[in-house]
Amino acid sequence: MKLISKGYDSGNDETGEFPCVSCHTNCCKEYVIFVNAHDVYRLSIGLGLAPESFLDVYGAKDYSLGIKVKEGLIDLALKQNNGACKFLEETKDVFRCTVNDIKPGVCKSYPFEMKNGKLNQMTSMMCPIDWDIAKFEEMMITHLKKDEFEWKFYDKLVKEWNTKHWRKKPLSAFLKFMLDKVESSLIS
Ligand code: SF4
Ligand code: SF4
Repeated sequence: MKLISKGYDSGNDETGEFPCVSCHTNCCKEYVIFVNAHDVYRLSIGLGLAPESFLDVYGAKDYSLGIKVKEGLIDLALKQNNGACKFLEETKDVFRCTVNDIKPGVCKSYPFEMKNGKLNQMTSMMCPIDWDIAKFEEMMITHLKKDEFEWKFYDKLVKEWNTKHWRKKPLSAFLKFMLDKVESSLIS
């Protein structure tokens, strides 16, 4: 059985249920979900919350760009509760994303990602589903291109910030800078 997509179509050919609905493989538990400016903007507006209430900072890895703020060289990710994403609702009967409509781009793309216009299936994935890659790409192409654009946008604004404000300003100033950049890109 080849399944098509998650959250966008009836993925399970036999039951009509999205594969993610009944899957407890823990992709929302095992990964730290790193986010970009557009992800934070959508969550902040959609939930009516300050970014600090759902973001955590991690030390930037050697290979990542890293944001230079007073607090150190950091990356932004979603907070976790008890080792799972804070937006995961898990009970005996329910396993679901409570921010499905505005969840981060990487969550929508998983277990794929777009790099230089090409769709890659992640090598270290834990997803047990046998996705139909061609159909996934066909259905998700708009999102995948948008996600790639948003990460490039984010890289650019982090570079701009790092050039101007090398460890001089706090994280709160970076978050404001970042959200203002998204806001003005949406207006222009
Ligand atoms: S592991 Fe795969 S099927 Fe399971 S919830 Fe994650 S993306 Fe969906
Ligand atoms: S935002 Fe939603 S899909 Fe993404 S890790 Fe959290 S619970 Fe899972």
